[in-house]
Amino acid sequence: MSFRKAVFLAYIGLLLSAGGVSAAEPVKKVLYIGIDGTRFDALEKASTPNLDALLGGGIHSPSCLILGERYQKNDTISGPGWSSILTGVWADKHGVHDNTFKGRKYEEFPHHFVRLKEVRPDAKTASFVTWKPIAEFITSAADITENFEQADHTVAGYETYDAQATAAAVKHLTEANPDAVFLYIGQVDVAGHTHGFHPSVPEYVAAIERADKLVGEAVAAVKARKTYAEEDWLFIVTSDHGGQGKGHGGGHDKPEILNSFLIVSGNAAQRGTFEEQVYLVDAPVTVLAHLGVSPKDSWKLDGRPVGLKK
Ligand SMILES: [Zn+2]
Repeated sequence: MSFRKAVFLAYIGLLLSAGGVSAAEPVKKVLYIGIDGTRFDALEKASTPNLDALLGGGIHSPSCLILGERYQKNDTISGPGWSSILTGVWADKHGVHDNTFKGRKYEEFPHHFVRLKEVRPDAKTASFVTWKPIAEFITSAADITENFEQADHTVAGYETYDAQATAAAVKHLTEANPDAVFLYIGQVDVAGHTHGFHPSVPEYVAAIERADKLVGEAVAAVKARKTYAEEDWLFIVTSDHGGQGKGHGGGHDKPEILNSFLIVSGNAAQRGTFEEQVYLVDAPVTVLAHLGVSPKDSWKLDGRPVGLKK
């Protein structure tokens, strides 16, 4: 190498290290995970090293409310819950009051992927679920949408489906380049309906521990990405409702049912515990905020971004 060329290369290297190309803004991405029917007190009882790591690397609420103050006429079950978790509005707007999905108004109040694509048409989105109605009714504007729920509605059935959904998410996170990925895990709710929703119920706690393992696999796939060092991943985990006894319908005055939890984790997240009350509808708006999307007034969202560093 000539002296002049060496000097030139050294100069370029200096430029890069001083804030040139190598210091480009990390690419913001989100892994959004929903674990159906999961009580936070049971999660605390369970051995959940992967969720604990997310808790340690972020901010959380052990009492994220599943109903808003303005409107509470919907049942405390999955249809309305996942609708709020994915659209950022309460049931008077998205129209889903129970699991029939009758009256749904997703045209007017769509899945947050639709809003993301409105502002960033090139954004890549993927959804992997084990509750068929989410894929059938709610998910739209996803480049990839897959449902793994089949006819066997036992805990063992959902163990299989959840493992398949997580494996598909892992494969996608490894091989593709998504900006927003949603993963739904169903077996905790099924264990609650079968054995009881309570920290003292071993089968319920065991289902949470299996869910934690799946969360760990998805997070590990993110961290193993070849481009991970140039990315800024936000991890959000929540649930659609708690439970009492073997159910959770009509839980409007039952704290064990009304309170979910919310974890917002990653470099962009604050640390500790939320001081303010947070709600299910805040989670998708936080996804959008991390991805650089400010809600428009015309979207009439009920949620707001929470837990992100200012
Ligand atoms: Zn549910």
